[in-house]
Amino acid sequence: MLGPITRRISDHSTEKDFCFTFYCDICGNTWESVPLKGSLEAGHSCSAEAKTLIWQSEHDAAYERANREAVKHFNRCPVCKRFVCDDCFLILPDQDICIECAKKRKGDGCK
Ligand SMILES: [Zn+2]
Ligand SMILES: [Zn+2]
Repeated sequence: MLGPITRRISDHSTEKDFCFTFYCDICGNTWESVPLKGSLEAGHSCSAEAKTLIWQSEHDAAYERANREAVKHFNRCPVCKRFVCDDCFLILPDQDICIECAKKRKGDGCK
């Protein structure tokens, strides 16, 4: 399984559906993936072992999909490579960077 795009995520998956929350690497703003329904319904006739396998593969697929969607929602800073929300991302004339890198850059300019 690949690592999540943001440093912090939480997994709200249950037996029946899969849902993940991603946190902005700077301010912790959250973005929740659209919950995906698993195929295991009450009354499913296969064994507990088979159910676990199905759940795991569906969970992994949902997790990858949530990461792909989160990439579109967050902005990747080209300097620190972190994924941040729109509030933490600045569109500058020369380069679009996160607010923390923008602050650092300003500091460098003063020296
Ligand atoms: Zn943020
Ligand atoms: Zn940055």
